[in-house]
Amino acid sequence: MLLRMSTLFVRTLREDPADAEVASHRLLVRAGYIRRAAPGIYTWLPLGLRVLAKVEAVVREEMTAAGAQEVHFPALLPKEPYEATGRWSEYGPNIFRLKDRKGGDYLLAPTHEEMFTLLVKDLYSSYKDLPLTLFQVQTKYRDEARPRAGLMRGREFVMKDAYSFDVDDAGLEVSYQAQRDAYERIFTRLGLEYVICAATSGAMGGSRSEEFLAPMAIGEDTFVRSAGGYAANVEAVTTVVPDDVPYDDAPQAHVEDTPGTPTIDSLVAHANVAFPRPDRAWTAADTLKNVVVALVQPSGERELLVVGLPGDREVDMKRLEAAVAPAEVETAGDADFAAHPELVRGYIGPSVLGPNGPEGSVRYLLDPRVVSGTRWITGADETGRHVVDLVAGRDFTADGTVEAAEVRAGDEAPDGSGPLELARGIEIGHIFALGRKYAAALGLTVLDQNGKAQVVTMGSYGVGVTRVLAALAEVNHDDKGLAWPANVAPAHVHVVATGKDEAVFAAAESIAETLSSRGIEVLYDDRPKVSPGVKFADAELLGVPLVVVVGRGLAEGVVEVRPRVGGTAEQVAVAEAADRVAELVDELV
Ligand code: ATP
Ligand code: MG
Repeated sequence: MLLRMSTLFVRTLREDPADAEVASHRLLVRAGYIRRAAPGIYTWLPLGLRVLAKVEAVVREEMTAAGAQEVHFPALLPKEPYEATGRWSEYGPNIFRLKDRKGGDYLLAPTHEEMFTLLVKDLYSSYKDLPLTLFQVQTKYRDEARPRAGLMRGREFVMKDAYSFDVDDAGLEVSYQAQRDAYERIFTRLGLEYVICAATSGAMGGSRSEEFLAPMAIGEDTFVRSAGGYAANVEAVTTVVPDDVPYDDAPQAHVEDTPGTPTIDSLVAHANVAFPRPDRAWTAADTLKNVVVALVQPSGERELLVVGLPGDREVDMKRLEAAVAPAEVETAGDADFAAHPELVRGYIGPSVLGPNGPEGSVRYLLDPRVVSGTRWITGADETGRHVVDLVAGRDFTADGTVEAAEVRAGDEAPDGSGPLELARGIEIGHIFALGRKYAAALGLTVLDQNGKAQVVTMGSYGVGVTRVLAALAEVNHDDKGLAWPANVAPAHVHVVATGKDEAVFAAAESIAETLSSRGIEVLYDDRPKVSPGVKFADAELLGVPLVVVVGRGLAEGVVEVRPRVGGTAEQVAVAEAADRVAELVDELV
């Protein structure tokens, strides 16, 4: 393959696009790989398409090696299957819906569980047909609330989605493991570091799920790790629940004036002076903070919720949202408070909430640390007053618990494997043991050995192909531009002809042709009247792993061969240039 810069459809940009906050987005646009068509929607240019095809090829090879067979579904789908599983409404505003000319409802698929289930139901009917794993590499649509970072979170994106079908749980376990192993091979081949994290299932449903997160500072997900090998998305971390505390000796609750204590710190300082605890000082962790939020169901129905948690912790909105999915969480506004005059802002206490309040009180969920017998300072439901020594289980209860408090470095891992450390990552893959939810909803059964109908058990497995490409750009760049690993680079070698000399262009052309005829992918900068400085800057921006400079050295019979990053430049005799480059390409791919 030989691409000539003189005719290649590409325009590199010297300026960063105004809307790009992360390096991969900036560089993919500047290097002419993608162009924005609409928010979160991108057009692929020739160089970008080449990289995308290579990432897809790795994914396809490993899927095939794992025994999965490729099919391809439309993106435009009828509503009915999604209605049967409840997802037409559960996805809420996150799916693109449209109508055909007859008024029929359609959607642009965000993921394809329903369609795969129906396809297998259509064609298969016996346990002898299973196990089966199908996959596709296909365009997905999600009307994301906050499309960002270019390809990282698009509203149109390419996903590899695979689905497994088994007659029993043991079979599902095998199919799940085969996909998990394939994912490890895919990301290893791509040179993308990953951490396998326990995850929540979200709108997908199902019993077990794990996410593959690529650690990077710009990642939107926070995950935790312990030295003992526990790893989880913070959304899936469960709190280590302390034992109940005996409260026979606890004093009766008493309401106190707490003037001038707008913050938790000032409240704690005041408490230690005005009503000290005999056994130890009050701390922020002894205050019970009651945070009001609004849950918006996919149907649009709005409900208030109060989360009670120790005052030294904040509510983590992503954890809360994962806990209340498919509802979305909004901050409570003036209208919400106006509808509930019992909620005195800044002084909300348990007495007016959930089971403690009258009929119609706002639902109340507690952090799991608020176990029976714990003693709290909390709002007294009157401005300027708090209640002290309010004992959980004695003086108040709740409608349940919720995992919504922030997870902090140093918190104990739920499996007892040590303290947690926190890091950020981007979700590049997600695997789910779905179980029978979709098969049951859509009637996918097979006859077992005894002729009895069994509901099939399923798994679903996604790789964000375009997000993976962005992640690769994110971890393979420097301040000058992209620096692709050879197995996904748009070309192996970038031959740059510098100067005006006919002889230079003739020699460069010959090297490019020779390499190309040996099956090496060559990008050849043959542009006349473009300065060497511009050509070098473009080579650095485009990020092809090997650069061959044909220019001034030609008078001495040499060309320069240098890697895009790392390593050193070599002067190689013109006659040996093709051999040497071929050798280096071999080492790289
Ligand atoms: P996220 O939590 O990032 O919104 P998700 O959990 O909704 O992702 P899944 O339904 O698990 O995503 O989809 C499988 C894979 O598709 C994800 O692991 C991710 O790599 C990719 N993906 C999901 N949403 C997007 C998007 N908006 N843009 C690009 N890739 C995406
Ligand atoms: Mg996911």
